[in-house]
Amino acid sequence: MTRADDRAAGVPRVLGDAWSLPRLDAHNRAFFTAGVLTLQQCTACEHVQHPPDDVCEACGGFDLGWLASAGDGRIESVAVVTQAIHPALAERVPYAIVLVSVADAPGVLVTGNVVGAEPDAIRIGDRVRVVFADARDPQSSAELRIPQWEIVAA
Ligand SMILES: [Zn+2]
Repeated sequence: MTRADDRAAGVPRVLGDAWSLPRLDAHNRAFFTAGVLTLQQCTACEHVQHPPDDVCEACGGFDLGWLASAGDGRIESVAVVTQAIHPALAERVPYAIVLVSVADAPGVLVTGNVVGAEPDAIRIGDRVRVVFADARDPQSSAELRIPQWEIVAA
């Protein structure tokens, strides 16, 4: 499967092929590969937290699992980046970085990109749903499904 095939299967990579892919580890693998919005949940107290950690931030427990979120959210903050901080971003500016509150995980905020919207049109309060940009890491051959956000009609 080629990058072109990857694009045909899902959302194009927002930041392009030159931008680094996430390096997978035990904490982030589910988030970047599951194809559903996957958040860490404490098995003792059911607290949901993001990003994942070694310990539950609510009860201090170490027995942590995963919650498959429905992937619906609300934009709580938006910043429009106009200066490319890396050469790979030169053709991407301006772009928006958003903080999304997750509907079925109260208190959880997920940072991400918005696809299919002009940066200046994105507003706090916009409803979003998760979509996935498919990519293959050329070094590890890992298949990634990188969460992105798409604005849904109110
Ligand atoms: Zn807990």
